[in-house]
This record gives sequence, C-alpha cells and structure tokens, in this order.
Amino acid sequence: MSTYPHLLAPLDLGFTTLKNRVLMGSMHTGLEETRDWNRVAEFYAERARGGVALIVTGGMAPNSEGGVFPGAAGLFLDQDITNHKIVTDRVHEAGGKIAMQILHAGRYAYSKDCVGPSAVKSPISPFRPRELDEDGIEKQISDMVTAATRAKEAGYDGVEVMGSEGYFLNQFLVMHTNKRTDRWGGSYENRMRLPIEVVRRVREAVGNEFIVIYRLSMIDLIPEGSAWDEVVTLAKAIESAGANILNTGIGWHEARIPTIATSVPRRAFTWVTKKLMGEVSIPIITSNRINSPQVGEDVLADGCADMVSMARPFLADPHFVAKAKAGKAALIAPCIACNQACLDHTFSMKIASCLVNPKACHETEIVLSPSSKSIGIVGTGPAGLASALAAAQRGMAVTLFDRADEIGGQLNMAKQVPGKEEFWGLVDYYRAAVADAGIIVKLGYEVSVDDLVDFDEVIIATGVAPRDSQIPGQDGENVLSYIDVLRGKANVGKRVAIIGAGGIGFDVAEFLVTDDSPTENLDDWLAEWGVSDPSKTRGGVYPEGPQSGAAVRQVTLLQRKATKLGKGLGKTTGWIHRITLRMKGVEMIGGVNYERIDESGLHVSYGASCENPTLIAVDTIVMCTGQVPRRRLADALEAAGTKCHVIGGADMAAELDAKRAIDQGTRLVASL
Ligand code: NAP
Ligand code: SF4
Repeated sequence: MSTYPHLLAPLDLGFTTLKNRVLMGSMHTGLEETRDWNRVAEFYAERARGGVALIVTGGMAPNSEGGVFPGAAGLFLDQDITNHKIVTDRVHEAGGKIAMQILHAGRYAYSKDCVGPSAVKSPISPFRPRELDEDGIEKQISDMVTAATRAKEAGYDGVEVMGSEGYFLNQFLVMHTNKRTDRWGGSYENRMRLPIEVVRRVREAVGNEFIVIYRLSMIDLIPEGSAWDEVVTLAKAIESAGANILNTGIGWHEARIPTIATSVPRRAFTWVTKKLMGEVSIPIITSNRINSPQVGEDVLADGCADMVSMARPFLADPHFVAKAKAGKAALIAPCIACNQACLDHTFSMKIASCLVNPKACHETEIVLSPSSKSIGIVGTGPAGLASALAAAQRGMAVTLFDRADEIGGQLNMAKQVPGKEEFWGLVDYYRAAVADAGIIVKLGYEVSVDDLVDFDEVIIATGVAPRDSQIPGQDGENVLSYIDVLRGKANVGKRVAIIGAGGIGFDVAEFLVTDDSPTENLDDWLAEWGVSDPSKTRGGVYPEGPQSGAAVRQVTLLQRKATKLGKGLGKTTGWIHRITLRMKGVEMIGGVNYERIDESGLHVSYGASCENPTLIAVDTIVMCTGQVPRRRLADALEAAGTKCHVIGGADMAAELDAKRAIDQGTRLVASL
C-alpha cells in the first residue's frame, strides 16, 4: 500500500476524475504579465509533469476594473484565448488538468477605477471604490460569466471563482464592506446573492462537464467578518448553484493575523474546513501551511477535507507529487513559507520565484544542461549546497568541503529561532539530496589551495564572519555575538540590549523573549494571535486582538539609523516580526550612538552632537551588527593563480540572505 493512501487516491467528479487529492493553488507569479506565453506554459507544464492532479492559475481579471492592478492579466479579450490555449495545450500534453481562476479584486484593485458594493476604502489601498449601481453589478456578473466561457474555449478544464481573501465577492458578504440597502445588501440572503448568481450563471454558461470551483472564505479573520452559520448557508447555496468543488480561503488580505508565514503552524486552519465537512455533498479542499506529503495525508486521514491545496510548495518543488508517489518524500525541496522570493517579489512587482528553487518561474531561463566537468565547492551553507545540487544535476563530479562537522552554515542558526522551525526540514532536505546525488562530502575538513588545484571548476562559498563594530568595552564578559546566543542562551541575563536591528537582530530578539515557540503548539499560536472559532465570534477573531504571554527576558533592540526598526524586513512578513516583538514588550530604539559598554550596561547618546547620554542598564549585550565576507581561501587561491568563483556571503556580505545565495549559486553553475 502507498505511504499516502488518502493523498494519492483519485477523486471522481462524475464527468472527469482527478488522479490524486492534490491541487496546486492559485498564485500570482507575474508570468502572465510578461506575455511570454511559452514561459507561462512551461511553468505550468513542469508542475503537471510532476503529477499534481489539478492546477489553478493565478487570478485572471474578468474586466479592467476587476484587475488587482492596472495591466493585470485577464481573460477579457477574445484574442487572449489563443494565448491561454498555448498554456492549456502544454499542460494537457504533460498529462495534467488546469483550471483558470477568475479574480475580481473589487476594492482591493490598486486603481482609481476600482469598484465595490459600497464606497468603503480598504486599509491596504489608497483608493476608495466606486459603489456599483444595479447595472454595474449586472456588468460584473456578465463579465465573470464571459471569462468562464472564454476559459472553456481556451481549453481549461474548469474555473475557480475567487470568493475569499476579501476580494470582490467576499466584499458583498459582510456588513463591514457592504452597506447597501437594495437587493444586494442588508440581510444575509441579499448579501450572498452576488456570489450565488455568479456561480449559477457560470454553470449555466459552461454546461455540466466543466469543473467549477468556488473559493469560499471559511474564516475572515476580521472584526465583523462572516459568522459560521453564514459560511454554512453560503456553502450549501453555492453547491445548489452548481459548483463541483469548494476550496478554502483563510483571512482577508487586510487581516492583521498571519495566515501563511513560516511562523504559522503547519495545517493551522484545517480545523476550520473540517467544520464544513458533512454540510455539503461536493468535495471540499483545505489549504494553508500544508507543505509535505505527510501533512497532507494526515489532514485527509483526519477528515478535515477531501483534497488539499498547496501553492508555494509547487514553486519549491514541481515534482512534489511524483516524489511522494515514488517513496522519495525526503527529496522534496520544502517550501519554508518565507515568502521571500514569491509573495515579496509579487508585492514589489517582480516576477515570483522561490528561495529554495530559483528555477521556479524561470524554467526557460535557468537550464542545467549536461556537463562532464569536475567541480570542488567549499562551504555547505545555502550558496554551496545549491551550487553542489545544481552541478550534480548537470552530471558534474562534485566534491563539497566544509570545515564544520555538519552541513547548513547559517541555516543551522536560523533553525534555532522560534517560528523558523521549517529550517530544520530545509537542512534535512539538503542532506538527503546531497547523498542521493552522489556528491562527495568532506566535513570537518580544513581545505587548502592544494586540495582544489585539480578541479575543472572551483567555487568558494565560505560565507561570512560577524562584523567588528569596535564599540569600546565590547570585549567585556557581558558581551556576546549572535552566534554565541543562537548556539545556546545559557549565559544570557534577564535584561538584554541587542545592538543591530537587521534580520538577525530581530531573530535574536524573538529567540530571547520566548521559551516555547508557539509555532510548535497550535492552541498557543491561535490564542496568541486572537483567533477564535468562527461559530463563537464573527470572523473568527477575539475582540481584544492578539494576546501574547509574558516575555522571558526584557529586551531592548537598537540601531543607529533613525528610521523605523525592521524597515528592511520582508514586505509580507516584517509586520509579523514587529507585532510579535511589540507583544513581548521589546523596546525598539533608533537613532542611537554607541558610546561604550561597561559592567553596568550599554551607554548611548543621541543625534549628531551626541546629546542626552543614557545608560541602558542590562546584564547582557548581544552584537548583531552585520557581517563581513570570509575570503581567506579565495584570496589564497587568487594569490596562487588558481581561478575560482566566489559566491554568497564570501562574495558580498551586505544584504545577504539565503535567497540571494541560492540564486547566485544555481545561476553560476548553470553558466559553467
Ligand atoms: P543587517 O541586516 O545588515 O543588519 C545589521 C544591523 O547592524 C543593522 O541594524 C545596522 O544598523 C547595524 N550595524 C551595521 N554596522 C554596524 C556597526 N559598525 N556598528 C553597530 N551597528 C551596526 O545584517 P544582519 O541582521 O546580520 O542580517 C544579515 C542578512 O541576513 C541580512 O541581509 C538579512 O536580510 C538576512 N536575514 C534575513 C532574515 C529574514 O527574516 N528574512 C533573518 C535573518 C537574517 P545601523 O547601521 O543603523 O546601526
Ligand atoms: Fe516557499 Fe519561500 Fe519558496 Fe515562497 S520563496 S515558495 S515561501 S520557500
């Protein structure tokens, strides 16, 4: 019997069968906007080759006012059909099925032309929507129906009607955004009229043998969101209107509760979908923070849903399902839910990719063609590991060296941070993948120039060393580096000052204020973020908001810049770190000068003229002041006339992160 009997079981929809219970959820990648349809087709076809049962495309606008931003991809012109057909043909050739998501953004459209049920501005948009009149609503329905018929003509196997995450249809459902008094507002029957009408008319237009998925917001995570009985009523009505499948949406985009970040526990919201099981007779899909076949299997075995949706895991590894089926789950590159190369890119109007798989969305650009070269790589941090795996994929003979006794480099420090437990899995994956690829690994080995001279290519990925910030008194016993701290906090006192508020300063602060990571305990995490059962409170939020337990240390986080602390953190995750530290009472101070350190603590002053000298009385000072490249070996090779490629932190320490290191290593190897 398969290891994942529930996950890999087919799902019969009557007129068609899905080959397993895995859906690739919709993601905006920015690929469609490139208008390079061969590239779009290759992205999806690679996932189809990897065995996923059904792919849902990124959201396609049904008209210009419904686009997430001006120029967002859509299917509102007849000539678009030919382009979309390139995609559907390629996916079908690869043995897959694909549905197109119809996404009307409503008041979330980043445009002055945005429309909504009422003129209520969203907190995450500068634009107030125009309230639609009866004709305007009719036009939106008709455009969505036309998009569905065009999708059918373009060869899609179905459509997903986006009704969650606070987009247009969701905006009609709740009083917070729907203040209407006509037949589209007021009672719940009126408020749910629009989504039902859309699904009913879509079904009428596309006939019975076409998949219609409705993505329903199961928990809005906003005050005044839907009550649970409304969710159930809507689900039943959507089924009667003709949907084949219900998919789960969690939280509006304006919600201030994390729903997919790495600190969200795995399968954190499947209990919500489970509440709907048995209420309808069509299959239900659950979603959010499912990133391994075992988690997917457990979710289904626990009766939480009939199918699981994963989106970002298919950026990390397009062959997720095929590897699970082949008993090679350890070789699935895991999505660590960091958002760094996917959502953070999307929100910066860059094409999405993946931190652990830079080839994602760049399938036609990064090509690992066969090569018979030998290659020596020094350093087993992310840059070295990524280059070693890419080289092995090319067929190169790879030898990987590290002075340390374990692989992972800085990843081994990240995994100690509460909320970053996914890094354990990432290092485990690298270990398994390196072994599977037949790479020779020499750990605990101090590499010399002589060890490297015979390779055809040499890569130096020796990483970084902490920067010496030269603060008087920094050699005192009460001063530690972040490395000392993340390797064991035994010597850290109760009152701590952290010098440096970059990614590592924030990580160390979280490490020091928390004893038990809430990410490891779902009930704690839900309580901390104020998530309730939506049958108890509307929208599934407690009115008092997030409530964190007391900090185990009193921490002050400092930087010299006068800007807001944490400004440089990830676009989609920085707010979570800031709220987490605020909940733990961490004091954040910018614009300081570090005068000196002594037994009483850290002496600072403020401004260019060093005013207001102040003692921050603490027991321990932790240095998180950035890094410098570790280049000793690279310099020695250059001096000996041996050519090498220097990557990752050894190349440039400023603004280094695993995303850049992995991307640089992979692209370099592709070019050798
Ligand atoms: P960083 O982001 O460059 O931050 C270094 C901090 O030290 C800054 O707050 C800086 O602020 C301060 N600093 C710099 N030079 C100093 C000096 N001479 N004396 C005193 N303070 C000084 O570096 P990091 O925090 O070590 O992080 C390294 C890399 O890892 C970063 O690129 C970061 O993005 C990445 N990382 C990312 C995450 C994540 O969650 N995505 C987590 C951890 C690390 P002032 O100059 O204003 O004082
Ligand atoms: Fe997952 Fe991070 Fe890759 Fe996005 S960038 S798919 S969150 S691993």
